[in-house]
Amino acid sequence: MKFCSHCGSADIALRIPPGDSLPRFVCGACDAIHYENPKIVVGCLPVWEDRVLLCKRAIEPRLGRWTLPAGFLENGETLQAGAMRETLEEANARVELLPLYALISLPQIAQVYMMFRARLLDLDFGPGPESLEVELFDEADIPWEEIAFRTIARTLRRFFLDRRLGAFGLHVSALERRPPLTPDLVAAG
Ligand SMILES: [Zn+2]
Repeated sequence: MKFCSHCGSADIALRIPPGDSLPRFVCGACDAIHYENPKIVVGCLPVWEDRVLLCKRAIEPRLGRWTLPAGFLENGETLQAGAMRETLEEANARVELLPLYALISLPQIAQVYMMFRARLLDLDFGPGPESLEVELFDEADIPWEEIAFRTIARTLRRFFLDRRLGAFGLHVSALERRPPLTPDLVAAG
């Protein structure tokens, strides 16, 4: 942060405010404390009969890789509205949302990922500006090696497992960056 969004001053320092425990961007001119908290990524897993709708990304990161429709929740927006908006923007697809299905904490990148199951309402879909292609995939045809994000792969694998078991719950988990290899492990190959 270079300038205070409250008063415009450049007198910004990273320090622990009185009574707090973590460093924050604090404005020396107006004393505003600029808290930074995790962002919410919301989306859905749209299903038509046995098939799942995936979007091929037209933007970085992971351009050309497949993903489920999802994006950052906007201020003033409900989770459901955000999931439906992202699905419309990325896949021109209309869905009926089913219960929340996957909630994944990503502490290292300060995001929380929330995915609903969803029923695709019609086959009138196609790529929006952020997608190269939008397609329905059978489980056997999912391009596992070309899935854009670990959160998406985890959500899809869990979905196909639950579908076989015949019960969908809410799955709460976390994805944390793997610890770096120690020199010993690297030397041992
Ligand atoms: Zn200020």
